[in-house]
Amino acid sequence: MNQQNYFDNAATTPLDPEVLDAMLPYLQEDFGNANSLHQLGLRAREGVEIARNQVANLLGSAPEEIFFTSGATEANNWTLQSFPEVAVSGLEHSTIHVQALELGYGFLPNDGHEVETDGEQDLTSVTFLSNESGGFVRASKPEHGKFHRDVTQALGKIRIDLSELDLASMSAHKIYGPKGVGALYIKNSDPIEPLFYGGEQEAGLRAGTLNVPGIVGFGRACEKASELMDADWAHAHRLKECLLNGLDNIGDWQSNSPSDSVPHLLSLSFLDLLGESLVVEADSLGFCISSGPACSSRSNELSHVLAALGVPDDWSQGTVRISFGRQNTLETTAALSKVLVQAVKSLRSAGRRA
Ligand code: PMP
Repeated sequence: MNQQNYFDNAATTPLDPEVLDAMLPYLQEDFGNANSLHQLGLRAREGVEIARNQVANLLGSAPEEIFFTSGATEANNWTLQSFPEVAVSGLEHSTIHVQALELGYGFLPNDGHEVETDGEQDLTSVTFLSNESGGFVRASKPEHGKFHRDVTQALGKIRIDLSELDLASMSAHKIYGPKGVGALYIKNSDPIEPLFYGGEQEAGLRAGTLNVPGIVGFGRACEKASELMDADWAHAHRLKECLLNGLDNIGDWQSNSPSDSVPHLLSLSFLDLLGESLVVEADSLGFCISSGPACSSRSNELSHVLAALGVPDDWSQGTVRISFGRQNTLETTAALSKVLVQAVKSLRSAGRRA
């Protein structure tokens, strides 16, 4: 498939070739264990520490506040499981939402993208940017307890103000880095309960042999995201406008993305349709979009996030998420727009005939 036709960048992004180049030596000649004392180990350790600096620079933290993990899922689980009393918003990614349901955590009320924090728990967790709507989720730092934010979708798209945050989760593959690597930011390196016990890696807080090539790739991806942040934003903005302009006469559709959302992500609902049918139709015409977050796009359940944002069920079921990336062009976006119009029309008329 032509990468230019891939519009599911919120699920994952293609690996940047420069990121791959940075990783390759650590998959080949510099394969050492970053905890070994010999030269090979020291070289691997050096790669990890350069990457820690690159991630910290993008996030605006000190390097020692970055703890590498296998991704945001682990960082979210690690954080939530370290505190006895937890409250989360109703707009969370499934890695937090499902945990909250399983472990009986409290849910905080929200009015659209505004979450009310009460500070009655040891930990409050509110996502920074919805992976479903692209809207910034606003919440003030609770007076009591630690404040965790899942910044996975925001990292690399905007500069994140860490002043009110105690903990933050992120994943490399949303910013053209490799899959299976991410980090937890912990303010002042204030220890929390380890999720894994074993070796002394990551100051003894996260045992396990470090994924050196992945970490090096994450670092390089952060460095590029920092350089390209403004250009990426402007590019996504142009693509989003182009897509929306093409949808003019389609009828009975709405955007679930607020006007001040990131331009990289657009949630659209079409009445009288199933989002999945639109995804399959677009795929048959050579375009990748999604009907929701990749982690739950195979289940038939309606999105808890769209429900919490007040999207009625008959609109929610006809939702697709289009997320723009560096590799998309105005031409392929205009083509996607046409494909959507054509697919919506033919699915609606087939539905009416049935
Ligand atoms: N949080 C958010 C907001 C996400 O978008 C994702 C990825 N879909 C995750 C957490 C989980 O990231 P990963 O699967 O890389 O662990």
